[in-house]
Amino acid sequence: MAIQQKSRQSGIRRKFSLLSLFEAMATPHALDRYLELVDPMTTVRDLRAEVTDVHRSTADTVTLTLRPTHQWRGFEAGQFVQVGVVIDGVRHTRCYSPACSQYRADGLIELTVKAHPEGLVSRYLHANAQVGLVVSLSQADGVFHLPTPRPESVLLISGGSGITPVLSMLRSLLDEGYSGDLTFLHYAYSEKDVSYRAELEQIAAEHDRVRIVLAYTDQTSGGDLHGFFGTEHLNAVAPWFAEARTFLCGPPGLMRSVRGVYDDLGLADRLHFEEFAAPAPTADADADGDVNFSGSDVVATNSGKTLLEQAEDAGLTPSYGCRMGICFTCTSVKTSGCTRNVKTGETDTEPHKKIQICVSVPVGDVEIEI
Ligand SMILES: Cc1cc2nc3c(=O)[nH]c(=O)nc-3n(C[C@H](O)[C@H](O)[C@H](O)COP(=O)(O)OP(=O)(O)OC[C@H]3O[C@@H](n4cnc5c(N)ncnc54)[C@H](O)[C@@H]3O)c2cc1C
Repeated sequence: MAIQQKSRQSGIRRKFSLLSLFEAMATPHALDRYLELVDPMTTVRDLRAEVTDVHRSTADTVTLTLRPTHQWRGFEAGQFVQVGVVIDGVRHTRCYSPACSQYRADGLIELTVKAHPEGLVSRYLHANAQVGLVVSLSQADGVFHLPTPRPESVLLISGGSGITPVLSMLRSLLDEGYSGDLTFLHYAYSEKDVSYRAELEQIAAEHDRVRIVLAYTDQTSGGDLHGFFGTEHLNAVAPWFAEARTFLCGPPGLMRSVRGVYDDLGLADRLHFEEFAAPAPTADADADGDVNFSGSDVVATNSGKTLLEQAEDAGLTPSYGCRMGICFTCTSVKTSGCTRNVKTGETDTEPHKKIQICVSVPVGDVEIEI
């Protein structure tokens, strides 16, 4: 046994030193840059995925099934991945939460993307994604997932495209044979806007202990509930919610209402949530100084907005992913000056420091390599 293990390890070491040799020969480009010319799904280090199925269940969403390359390490229901696509020669990266069970046997990943009316990547995927498209992929990340061991009762609340991470939780709990109280409460304008409606109805029919509740805000017939979220909805569909763990993802209005109710009831620590979009930023009214975008030879008066917004206002197009300090796509080097992180309130005066420009506002003069 020990001999077998030793020879396996030396085999792996040989493989990696050969790879390093090939990579050194391929310099200045990584080996994957050459391999992608032959087959973009043959990669040594890069994690990528090929679209193997495209499905449109509602007018403004597209569901993509992805086959990841061998580097994929799987995910926990609720987490997100970063997907990169090339549009007009530029790679853009956005976060998407797998909607499938974390136990999916074929190893494929399912994403459902809602096309935002002015959105770049979501509209591109909605209009252009087809079988064979290869996208770049990150490993899964994020702290929005079910705790282990599982809680005795679980309430899942979603709205619109926020269905994806909580549907993944629902599907995963069903695969685990979860036997606690489980309610899935989903808000949509009307029944035609519910992705996965047929599957949700089937789950309701097949599982006595699982309660699927569809709430319509613009439709007064059909469905189970009507109107916006309120405590009466909670009491009607999960009267045990105060003892449960609640997982929430949806549009800002729904998030605000649910968080408000849980705060008022002193249950904030029982509520776990994921936001898809950052709340509208408020510019610092006392802002002063200039922002020097040194990589572009542009100097702008500090408006008090985030450095990402100030760069965009100045006509620059830095890369970004989540716009809320999660994904690090926008990280840039601040050469000098002081910045404040709008999420933590911390200020930073260290020169030549990498900062996330989507959550950093300048405090006085700042020079940044954009
Ligand atoms: C952790 C995480 C998980 C996510 N999972 C999913 C998912 O499973 N499915 C999904 O469809 N989206 C998901 N998103 C949102 C997704 O990452 C993109 O923000 C969304 O697809 C819009 O990107 P875009 O390039 O089309 O828009 P952009 O070109 O980046 O933005 C264009 C305009 O749309 C606005 N906008 C951007 N994002 C949103 C948003 N989410 N809601 C409302 N307005 C917005 C911007 O303010 C801007 O005005 C997730 C986001 C995060 C942070």
